[in-house]
Amino acid sequence: MTANTALPGQPQIAYAGDQLHVEGVALSQLAREQGTPLFVYSKAAMLSALAAYQRGFAGRQAHICYAMKANSSLAILQVFAEAGCGFDIVSGGELARVLAAGGDPAKVIFSGVGKTRHEMKQALQVGIGCFNVESEAELDVLSEVAVSMSKQAPVSLRVNPNVDPKTHPYISTGLKGNKFGIAHEEALRAYRHAASLPGLKVVGIDCHIGSQITDSTPYLDAMDRVLDLVAEVESAGIPIHHIDFGGGLGINYNGDTPPEADALWAQLLAKLDARGYGQRQLMIEPGRSLVGNAGVCLTEVLYLKPGEQKNFCIVDAAMNDLPRPAMYQAFHQIVPLQPRSGDGVVYDVVGPVCESGDWIGRDRQMLVQAGDVLAVLSAGAYCMSMASNYNTRGRAAEILVDGTKAHLIRQRESAFDTFALEQLV
Ligand SMILES: *Cc1c(COP(=O)(O)O)cnc(C)c1O
Repeated sequence: MTANTALPGQPQIAYAGDQLHVEGVALSQLAREQGTPLFVYSKAAMLSALAAYQRGFAGRQAHICYAMKANSSLAILQVFAEAGCGFDIVSGGELARVLAAGGDPAKVIFSGVGKTRHEMKQALQVGIGCFNVESEAELDVLSEVAVSMSKQAPVSLRVNPNVDPKTHPYISTGLKGNKFGIAHEEALRAYRHAASLPGLKVVGIDCHIGSQITDSTPYLDAMDRVLDLVAEVESAGIPIHHIDFGGGLGINYNGDTPPEADALWAQLLAKLDARGYGQRQLMIEPGRSLVGNAGVCLTEVLYLKPGEQKNFCIVDAAMNDLPRPAMYQAFHQIVPLQPRSGDGVVYDVVGPVCESGDWIGRDRQMLVQAGDVLAVLSAGAYCMSMASNYNTRGRAAEILVDGTKAHLIRQRESAFDTFALEQLV
């Protein structure tokens, strides 16, 4: 790693001199002040990812609803709320976070296969924009709950276009064997059912085919399938006010080359125009692509442990902080904050948790010593929001960098915090 090199996919996270920076802040100083593991996010990187979508939709009626499960920390939500975004939520807890961060409930859409009656009530009370309903049984329950509150719930049906997003099976959601959505063949019947229920008002159609998608073909195929359904449902006399294409656009973890959001939408909008739907109200639910490349996780090298078959670099971050490698064999680039010159050794980078699945990177050539601090890149999405207290490890602190300012947006959890709600008998 040489001085002044921007790392792929994240121009706001780069070496200046021989020090890795997030915007105008040197990460080694943050690590000294705040300790490690430490998540650091670039506000400019998030806003620039959002701007690519905004450019793509210039002149169209489109709402961007940040899929907040990617990173639901309050200050991150605040950044997107202030930039005009709505939110895609998947639980009542996420709705509470949107409200706490100052988000507008009218711009919230509620996705997920297992909404409880309590969550439906909570969402109807604050007047969310739309429920994305995923089964016929859920339609009945939602209607019942809305009628009991003398309300009508705005609904969109999540349809399953049966296209292969060619991503990891755990993050592919639009195939027939997935638990998500209503099968294409059953969609018209479900729409008729929804339109007949007193507590529901049909407003849209929705699909979300998977995550970390790096090719535009599955999106274009899914769009054709969804537009076929819009035509079918509308010719049955049920108007579809908005079309929601979900999220799923991939980011650069390891030389991945997903399309830019504006380029992808230029293709999708051309198709919408060609089929006569270009002026419809559009919605999207991006998560990873808004925050993934905007964050890093800093971790200190504790021990180097040479072995006969493998050398281990044991660091103070673990699978409870960075769960993606353990969950999906996912890749994060790992770089030193201050590179040393020389060739290095091939290591498996592992955490202190008592599981063999607790690894962060495998077979990485690095020149490091105990006490060095490393940055795990592309750690803005599905890291802190999936973090746990396994092994009674308090969750990391989080910093939001804005220019030369570093704001502490989450304090490090103490051991006491991790058991504060427990009681002895
Ligand atoms: C997770 C999810 C998203 C966001 O997916 P990304 O890959 O992070 O963009 C959008 N919509 C729904 C329904 C989801 O479950």
